[in-house]
Amino acid sequence: MGEAYTTEFIKDNIENFKSFFTELNKERFIVKELAPYIYELTPIKETSVDKVIGLMALNHGNEVGGLFVLLEFLSLLDKGLVNLPGKVVIGLGSVESAKLGKRFFEKDLNRCYGDVVGEGKDFQRAKVIMEAFKECHMSLDLHQTQTPSAQPFFPMTFNTKTFELIRAIDPQASIIPQKPYDQKGKGVPFSHYLVNRGCTAVTVELGTMGLDYKQIYYGVQLILKLLNYNLGKEPEEFRGSFFPKRGPVFPPGPDAWLRSDLGNFSEIKKGEVIGDYDGGKKWMAQESGFLAFPKAIRGLKRTQANENEPIYILLDRDPDYLKNRE
Ligand SMILES: [Zn+2]
Repeated sequence: MGEAYTTEFIKDNIENFKSFFTELNKERFIVKELAPYIYELTPIKETSVDKVIGLMALNHGNEVGGLFVLLEFLSLLDKGLVNLPGKVVIGLGSVESAKLGKRFFEKDLNRCYGDVVGEGKDFQRAKVIMEAFKECHMSLDLHQTQTPSAQPFFPMTFNTKTFELIRAIDPQASIIPQKPYDQKGKGVPFSHYLVNRGCTAVTVELGTMGLDYKQIYYGVQLILKLLNYNLGKEPEEFRGSFFPKRGPVFPPGPDAWLRSDLGNFSEIKKGEVIGDYDGGKKWMAQESGFLAFPKAIRGLKRTQANENEPIYILLDRDPDYLKNRE
């Protein structure tokens, strides 16, 4: 699937991100470059909170939506339309690969964090990022999905503080609970690294990869609510949903394809034709539920099916998820 924007356009906007900090009103903010494309902003006016907020985009170089969320937020700050309650660290992750239109170089940057030893550009960048964000108390990492998504969602390893933060920034959030990552010797995602350091860190999938204004405004709203939460505003009652994973679903045979209208959070019913395989045989769903992380959607070239890999993860909607945890 081609994109309506060019790599040049992304490159220009990455440079816009950088220039923002050199041009930002010096009477209102102290700007410190912590690392290339990572800045610390401190409001000069007496601040009421000492908690540091971290904001991150482009942990995956091809998920450009987050970059535009940060640019929009910076422009609100610059115009004086938003007050910073305290210090913020704002950064871009896999910048150099993003400039080439790539997700990462050799290794997924979002699996290079934590107590892990590795070589190459991605591991080097992860080291720099970890150092720059190490003092954050709360953080938001902006992502997008590679296949279509019906709504934004939050993959989350359950933790009361993290849940409170999600509730504060989006009381209607869809949450996919995740198993904790095994830290020892293996790289983990950015938010997991921060959680292990005691930070309340949240990852959001804004929606389908690309440039979408609805997603940009949604992302900015998340940041504004995060600032309010930091100022002590109580979160609203949770009206969202938990979607625990029931399990992986493998292709029924060779050359399997999902229907072109399916994507993340599509609801499917047992017995429904959800695709085809082996040169046109009907593929019927074995169980009802919701799809997540689907691969091999007909019409999307980049996600080929692999028989040994799950073609999607089946999710349940569990209204009693919180009750069952008590
Ligand atoms: Zn991502």
